[in-house]
Amino acid sequence: MSSAIIGPGRVRVADKRLINAEAVDVNQLMPIKYAWAWEHYQNGLRNHWVPSEVPMLKDIEQWRAPDVLTPGERVLVMRNLGFFATAESLVANNIVLAIFRHVTNPECRQYLLRQAFEEAVHTHTFHYVVESLGLDEGEVFNAYREIPAITAKDAFELELTAAVLQPGFSTTTFEGAQCFLENLIGYYVILEGILFYSGFAMILSLKRRNLMPGIGQQFEYILRDETIHLNFGVDLINGIRHERPDLWTPDFQTKATEAIERAVGLEIAYAKDCLPQGVLGLTAGMFEDYVRYVANRRLERIGLVPVYGERPNPFPWLSETIDLRKQQNFFERKVTEYQSQSALTWED
Ligand code: FE
Ligand code: MN
Repeated sequence: MSSAIIGPGRVRVADKRLINAEAVDVNQLMPIKYAWAWEHYQNGLRNHWVPSEVPMLKDIEQWRAPDVLTPGERVLVMRNLGFFATAESLVANNIVLAIFRHVTNPECRQYLLRQAFEEAVHTHTFHYVVESLGLDEGEVFNAYREIPAITAKDAFELELTAAVLQPGFSTTTFEGAQCFLENLIGYYVILEGILFYSGFAMILSLKRRNLMPGIGQQFEYILRDETIHLNFGVDLINGIRHERPDLWTPDFQTKATEAIERAVGLEIAYAKDCLPQGVLGLTAGMFEDYVRYVANRRLERIGLVPVYGERPNPFPWLSETIDLRKQQNFFERKVTEYQSQSALTWED
């Protein structure tokens, strides 16, 4: 049997290009060319979790109590729920509609399928939080239209998706390939690497004070996933730089650096909006330092020059949270809890 659609021969490792592979029919996972993509996929599996297994009783008590959270802390929680409730779907949509089609390497596609699922889990988190706390769903899920600091962050990202969705867009042209790289930087380095981080710091700072611990734990799991998303994105961007060094012109580097600087401005404005008067342990000024500190690290990882000078991290404790893997394996913890629960059921 022969088919016009499936050609003869075997795939060669050299053909498994990150973008612009000659033919893409099935995903021939083996032989693996990019071990990093497969490793990120396996790391994703090891971190599997679901938001609905995280207890929310304490959060519900604290949210209902008149005097546990200050008005400023309530604004902070609502602003962060409002941003993340829809921002996770920006990433998912961009993977499925814009990235997946043009990333032609099979092991990267395998990872992208995993990541898309994780973004669905992240969006699910906000459905679960809204239901648990009995929040106004419109206020949370429509915040991206109603809170200008959130609108600005989302609009920045949506422009990057729209550019790849233009009719006739192709990564086979020089401009198209550069535009695609801009999209990858805009999503992996900027959105998942910078625009998520004030929110992580704010919610995890509340958790350190035992406030809203369920949401805090969900954010820890999300942060752990996002760390892998960022690592994959950095490897993909640097892999394309290696495959196509011609794309990485001085002009392109300037453009990418300017995009990161623009995002830093958006993120600082967002942090100020979340902290109109500051809350215990957090001031808007700390976020000016933090966002720039994070941006410097991100610039370095894709071979760009840090532009903000050396500055200390105002939230050193956050890096301990990022290294959460050892302390908390979701399944191991859950299996024990399920076992003790079933034992109780039998005693009844
Ligand atoms: Fe996510
Ligand atoms: Mn992500």
